[in-house]
Amino acid sequence: MSDRAPSPEPRSFERAVFLDRDGTIIEEVGYLDRPERVEFFPWTIDAIRVLNRAGLAVVLVSNQSGVARGFFNEDVVDAVHKRMADLLAEGGAHIDAYYYCPHHPDGKVPQYTQKCGCRKPCRGHVDRAEQEFGIDPTRSFVVGDRWLDVALGRAVGAQRVLVRTGYGASEEQKRPADVEADAVVDDLIAASSWILGKL
Ligand SMILES: [Mg+2]
Ligand SMILES: [Zn+2]
Repeated sequence: MSDRAPSPEPRSFERAVFLDRDGTIIEEVGYLDRPERVEFFPWTIDAIRVLNRAGLAVVLVSNQSGVARGFFNEDVVDAVHKRMADLLAEGGAHIDAYYYCPHHPDGKVPQYTQKCGCRKPCRGHVDRAEQEFGIDPTRSFVVGDRWLDVALGRAVGAQRVLVRTGYGASEEQKRPADVEADAVVDDLIAASSWILGKL
């Protein structure tokens, strides 16, 4: 760890990278119900640090319908994100915002059982980042391992990258006719490199 005092994180950005969580930043393990099960890919911290240093807002956008389904509660999701933040901080990287959708139209927990505007591919969380950070979605990027992540990118006019980790390799084989990625790459570090080349 550096002994320099950390400089305050800027809270205003022109551009963001919206990162899916499961299968993109961390290993896809099904419904992640315990923070101990968080496992970064070996390149995750480097990949996020590169984006931080490029001056991009790094915004996690995750569908966590396990909350609506009653598999775990929001405290668990917060604990998972706290663990991720701690591990990233050890490597000199950070995520600027952790946004997730706890809803699902077919849930079991009444307060979360709804059609919402924040479940990807809906754009609610991108709009929220626009308000909180001042970013321009059309100059931003979306990275994920599923076509619904790519569809979010299309919905907001961002450039979009499908990674082959998580479900990505199988998703690549069954692209919906109406969704196209700007790039399909092996993993998040390759996605970060691709994004740097577009700045
Ligand atoms: Mg995913
Ligand atoms: Zn939602």
